Amino acid sequence: MKYISTRGDAPHLTFEEAMLTGLALDGGLYVPESVPTLGQGEIAALAGAPYEEIAYRVMAPFVGDCFTEDELRGAIARAYEGFGHDARAPLVQLGPNHFLLELFHGPTLAFKDFAMQIIGQLFQIALKRRGERVTIVGATSGDTGSAAIEAFRGLDNVDVMILYPHGRVSEVQRRQMSTPVEANVHALALDGDFDDCQAAVKDMFADVAFRDEVGLAAVNSINWARVLAQVVYYFSSALSLGAPERAVSFTVPTGNFGDIFAGYIAKRMGLPIAKLVVATNRNDILHRTLETGRYQKEGVSPTISPSMDIQVSSNFERALFDAYGRDGAAVAQLMAELKSAGGFPVSQGAIEVLREVYASGRASEEETSATITAMRARTGEVLCPHSAVGVKVAEELLGAEPMITLATAHPAKFPDAVEAATGLRPPLPSRMSDLYDRPERITRVPNDLSEIERVIREMRRT
Ligand SMILES: *Cc1c(COP(=O)(O)O)cnc(C)c1O
Repeated sequence: MKYISTRGDAPHLTFEEAMLTGLALDGGLYVPESVPTLGQGEIAALAGAPYEEIAYRVMAPFVGDCFTEDELRGAIARAYEGFGHDARAPLVQLGPNHFLLELFHGPTLAFKDFAMQIIGQLFQIALKRRGERVTIVGATSGDTGSAAIEAFRGLDNVDVMILYPHGRVSEVQRRQMSTPVEANVHALALDGDFDDCQAAVKDMFADVAFRDEVGLAAVNSINWARVLAQVVYYFSSALSLGAPERAVSFTVPTGNFGDIFAGYIAKRMGLPIAKLVVATNRNDILHRTLETGRYQKEGVSPTISPSMDIQVSSNFERALFDAYGRDGAAVAQLMAELKSAGGFPVSQGAIEVLREVYASGRASEEETSATITAMRARTGEVLCPHSAVGVKVAEELLGAEPMITLATAHPAKFPDAVEAATGLRPPLPSRMSDLYDRPERITRVPNDLSEIERVIREMRRT
């Protein structure tokens, strides 16, 4: 199994190389050269299997011979053993034909744990075998950073430095980054906003001498291994509702398009999915694109579902690549136009392909809040604001097939928005109820590249 770039002009890599590299040299994103399929009989045989078994069957064909069966099974087992629910991704029913897929039982209470936990394990195996060490540096507005710190804490061959904007993440998010005691993980509070954090990371990667000195690596949302790990719960949940005999639809609260693109891969693998619904908050570039055929940047406006506050959606490039018949040169052209003109028209042929697969909808702040209130009253389920965006959009598009809406975070991660909607402050799960009592360890850094690099050099283990 080889991986190719969406811009058509980078070396073809193995799964392991694509995972360790992240972004392709031509600026594109890695995708598998072809999508392996599972026969209807093979899918049916997974009904009732543990999540880990489904994960192995779904991921193995993409991994190829980069990891042995024992290595991959071991990595999967360690990745999910700390989850707070035996089903890993349990389904609950919201209405006659509407189900909620709870993806928030991992260690940082958001769906990003599903991918980050397994990436941590696979990085460790690959780096140990190569006799290499890396320093993972990332910028976060909250969820990605805590998931990365949680996934890599205590691993021998990796140091992790996460930059977050000082004073601008929720207290739960900050504590999840600042309370792990292992010496290889560090939360860096930068004096600036999220864009300053991202710019600092970008500048570090551009500083070739520093990059080589510390072995800089990234695990951001464009990493193919993250997308792959997320394909698994589309299978597990659809199987619970009668797939492959019965088709299902999914609604996905969407930001960078990684999670919903995993659903598209599940469909390509042979899982019968009727519709994949993109749910956005008022930062609605994806919904507008599917409606109008034009992909156009606008400023970001902050919402109560901050993990979906994006201006452009990085993984959408993967969807465009397929919609344009895997023409890398055409995609490179669109991305150049995005950079120079802030947007581009999607061709008639490509938009038709996209509309075949994806539907979309948008929820306003008021609708999101009202959905949290109404769902608690009608079902007892307390939604986080991201999941509420999904539920609101899904309810407008319910059809003949069962609808599964992805619940991307635990309500306790966004207690203010939930309390405003329900009058109730959602408690943390008991296994982490001492989060507010654990000592914090935070390194303050100025918005100054050479100073940040100095701190990282000093803190990394050699
Ligand atoms: C990251 C995130 C999203 C958006 O996921 P994408 O893969 O970027 O589309 C939605 N909800 C929550 C809680 C998140 O952390």
